[in-house]
Parts: sequence; structure tokens; C-alpha cells
Amino acid sequence: MSGSGTLDAWVGRTIGVARLPTRDDIDAYQLRCLNETIAYARSQSPFYRLRTDWPEPCELVDLSDIARLPLTTADDLVRGDPSLIALPMRDAVRLVTIPTSGTSGRQKRLFFTEADIEATVAYFEHGMATIVRPGSSVAVAFPAQRPDSVGDLLMRGLTRLGAFPAALPVDGSLDRMVDALRELRPAAIAGMPVTLGAAARRMETDGGLPLRIETALVSADSVSPSFKAALAVVWGAEAFEHWGMTETGYGGALACEAHDGLHVRETDLYLEIVDGSSGRPLPAGQEGEIVVTTLRRRGLPLIRYRTGDGGRIIDDRCRCGSVLRRLRLGGRIGEPGAAGGGGRLPAAIIDDAIFAVDGVIDFSVELRTGRGARLAVGVMAAAPRTIVDVRAALLRHPIVGPWLQAAGIDLAVERVSGPPFSLCRKRRVTVVCGED
Ligand SMILES: [Zn+2]
Repeated sequence: MSGSGTLDAWVGRTIGVARLPTRDDIDAYQLRCLNETIAYARSQSPFYRLRTDWPEPCELVDLSDIARLPLTTADDLVRGDPSLIALPMRDAVRLVTIPTSGTSGRQKRLFFTEADIEATVAYFEHGMATIVRPGSSVAVAFPAQRPDSVGDLLMRGLTRLGAFPAALPVDGSLDRMVDALRELRPAAIAGMPVTLGAAARRMETDGGLPLRIETALVSADSVSPSFKAALAVVWGAEAFEHWGMTETGYGGALACEAHDGLHVRETDLYLEIVDGSSGRPLPAGQEGEIVVTTLRRRGLPLIRYRTGDGGRIIDDRCRCGSVLRRLRLGGRIGEPGAAGGGGRLPAAIIDDAIFAVDGVIDFSVELRTGRGARLAVGVMAAAPRTIVDVRAALLRHPIVGPWLQAAGIDLAVERVSGPPFSLCRKRRVTVVCGED
């Protein structure tokens, strides 16, 4: 493995070393960019300028010095006063608002310039080039209608590398999306686990023609083993994980052929892992909350932004030959625990246990806490017996079963007829707090 299948050559050109970069090259580039970003944000953005908890002077001598700076949170983006934006509004190419979870209706506001968006398209082009061949057809299962949306930027990146992207209809029924997929017969597909998992399982059970898809780009904060297995069984697809969010400029980290962690987009992001409760930085290898600092962002620079996603950094060199740091994902921070002393149960384990059952197409999970605690699972499946299988699988699962029992939580599994859920979404365990 020479590194030709990695992003390293492109990273070298982007950071200005004109060869395959060494780890020292990347560290030096990141230190330079961090200092530029800090100085820029301090002079241009009201939010960073008015912060009183910054050390002065604020020049970093070493990458680890960044831990002296205060953390930024989603609340700061929601409040937007003082504004984090570092440019006059007339320079905005795109102002993105993202509703926060929950029912408060509050929104995070982000702001990208032309150059910010170009950086993302370039990353998508070169990232996708490691898993998609020029000339091949690629199905994009993200919303792509709005200019500069994630689907649109991904399609622009794919077009640049010489592939032929096509947007799947993801705003209607699952059957409509599956029909479009069969017609397109793509060599690769990109989307979220819920979308791709539902499409694969529907195709497995609807009696239609089978489809071979070589590679799948899967964008998520965690990807379950049963989901990867389903893509391999139904399509013969090799799944490449991707992590990113609007705050990272959509792209964030991408798996390589070694499938041993995701290589971080180090041209544009500096990642730290901090303790989820204290905010203290954690060393490589330890799991905590992913904190992001943008390195070239002009519209709305983020400095030590708490993403709410969990993971850990792997510092040693990857088998693929790349020197880019790797991230191992750990799901959302602060996922629901259980009432009644059963301890916290990571949502990813429930997710994996349910999707591992043959015939499950899509599902939702709601945990009602307090008196009469209940785990309610709504399953979309082709056959009624799948509901019985899901119930049995959860009760005999080595972790979920004892957890339900210890916490005195009732299990209710119901069949729901589709499409009860949006096709493009992150699957979360909804927690409803009942009376104690
Ligand atoms: Zn690698």
C-alpha cells in the first residue's frame, strides 16, 4: 500500500508541501492554521472578541496549548448573540439553520462563504475518489435539491472526480426510492444508515430484481455491525463510514480500505477529545466527546466546538499507509439511560440488536421512564413474524435482556406500516419522562 489509495497526496498539495506529507508536516500546518484562526476570530467575530475568558496573549506554541482556550457549545450557535460570524452578511453564500433536537424550536445558525464551500467540495471529490472509480454511477441518498446542501455538494465533488452522481428521491416513499435505485443500478451509493438499511432490506424482501452495489458511503455518528452485514449480504457492498455534521462543513472523517477508524479531514479540522462532563482534554486512545476547531473557515470559525458526538483518536499509523489521524466513533454523548437502576444502555446496542433481525426494514425506539417504564419499539417489516423475532432477540440479547430485567422495563414491540418515518434521519432513542 503506497498511499495512492489514500488522501495523503491531496493533503500534501493542499497544505503546501508538494509531496506525501509527514506527520510533522501536518502538525506544523495545523498549528499555523490554529493561530491564524484564533487571531482572525478574535479580530472579526463579535462572539470571540467579547469573550472574557480567553488567555492573553493567545499564541499557541504547541498544538496542545489549544486546551487553554474556552470551549464553544451548540447553545452559543443557537443564541447567536453576540454573533460568531466573522464577515459582513453580504459575503454569505449560504446561511444554514439546523433545528436542535427536542421541541424547543431553537435553531443553530451557521454561515459559509464561497471558499468554505469550495473546501468541502474538494474534500468530497478527493475523499470519494478513494472509494469510487471515475466513470461509475453513484446514487446519492441525501436531499440534494437545495443548492449547497450536503447532497448537492457531494454530487459536485463526485462530478469533479469523473463519476456520474444521481440523486435518489428520498422525500417520498421507500418503494419509490427502491424503484429509482433498481433503474439506476449504481456502482456505489451514499447515504445515512437508516436510509441505506431500509432500502437494502426492502429490496431483499420485495421480490424484485437483486442489485449489486460495490461500495457504500455511510454517514453517521455510529454504524452498527448488523447494518454493515445487511449491506454486504443484500448488495455485496463494502461500507465505508463517514463522520461529519453541518458544523464540520459536512465532511469530517472517512474510513479507508483498512476499516480501522476514520481518517480525519485534517486540512480543515483540528480534533480533540474531551471528558464529556468536565470538558478536560483526554489523551489519544481515550473515549470522550469530539471537539472541533475549524482551520480555514472564514464565514463562521468554530473554536473548540463541542459536537455532542463521542469517539476517540487513534494516533498510530494506519495499515493503509496514511499518516492522517484516525477517529473511532462512539455514538452520541449523553444518550438515554434507564430508570430503575438498570444503568445506562448505549442506544447503539439496541439499534444493532433490532436491525440484526432478518426482515427488519426500519424502526423507532421510545423509552418511557419512571413508573410503568417501557421500551416501545415500532418495527416496519414485510412479515408479521418479524415482530415476534425482534421481541425474542431483545429479550435474549446478552446486554439488552438483563438491562430490561434489572431496570424493570416492559418491552412492547409493534408492527408499523410504512412509511411512518422520514427516510433521511438519524435514528435516536426517544426518551419520554414519565412520573416517578
Ligand atoms: Zn487508513
